[in-house]
Amino acid sequence: MLGAGGIPWRTRDSGVGGVLRAQEPWGSLVEIADGVWAMISNPMADRTTLCNGGIVAGRSGVAVIEAFASTRGAEWMADQALRLTGRRPDVVVVSHYHGDHSAGLPGFGVDESAPEVWLTGATRNRLTEGLREAAPERADPMARALERAVARPDDEDDTLDLGGRRVRIGARRGHTASDVTVELDAPPVVFCGDLVWNEMFPNYVDARPSELRRAVASIAVGPDSVLVPGHGPLSDADAFGRYVAVLDAVEAHAREARRVGRTAAEAAADFELPSESTHWTSFSPSYFERALGAWLTELEGEDSWTH
Ligand SMILES: [Zn+2]
Repeated sequence: MLGAGGIPWRTRDSGVGGVLRAQEPWGSLVEIADGVWAMISNPMADRTTLCNGGIVAGRSGVAVIEAFASTRGAEWMADQALRLTGRRPDVVVVSHYHGDHSAGLPGFGVDESAPEVWLTGATRNRLTEGLREAAPERADPMARALERAVARPDDEDDTLDLGGRRVRIGARRGHTASDVTVELDAPPVVFCGDLVWNEMFPNYVDARPSELRRAVASIAVGPDSVLVPGHGPLSDADAFGRYVAVLDAVEAHAREARRVGRTAAEAAADFELPSESTHWTSFSPSYFERALGAWLTELEGEDSWTH
């Protein structure tokens, strides 16, 4: 069974180092390298930011990774960028359309002084569609923020030049139809969006599991890498290996369920996490069934992704 508890930025399992620069009920902001900070949210206590993300500073620009779950969370991150780097954010990168990574976007500002917004066309389209059912007080500021955003091609990598520091944006897919990673070479840091989780079981609500597995395999992880997962504590090569083992355990269990004709709910009832990950938490007890269901749907050729 998955438990529910607080999310520390670092755990006994994780060898990743860093210096704590801010701590709030909603999470911890940790300096992981010169000019690089990771935000590790604690959604079990407070959903102001909810997802993980971060700040990367160069000589002439500051990027914030993710727009977080609330405008208050985004405002707080913009204030932290100013406090830590002396600049307000120049650019905000949104990894994918899910609300916990995007809903705070208007909190960075909606007028000419607001930072550039980097997101893919698919992500912007999904966010725009989502506004149709939203209340005007939420939809209007988001629509203004999105109007200013230049939508990038879904399948093309990009580079941000922050002045003496180049940030690579990797175009990927699998957690949703369009995900991006934000990567630095030196030090080797990857902001993974929700393609990678750590010590929390991943959400497959919009996943195509085979694409997710391929995207995860394509992330370059070395012995010195620091990974900022979409949710959960800071991650390293060992923690990444445990995450991959969880994905593979889900796949193996789903393939066996398909072979013997079980439903996702039946298969979820006796799914077990690999032994080194049995202490992982989850946002919802339904996540095993959702993950197995995503695999069964894909194996049956019925997923709704457009090709
Ligand atoms: Zn997500």
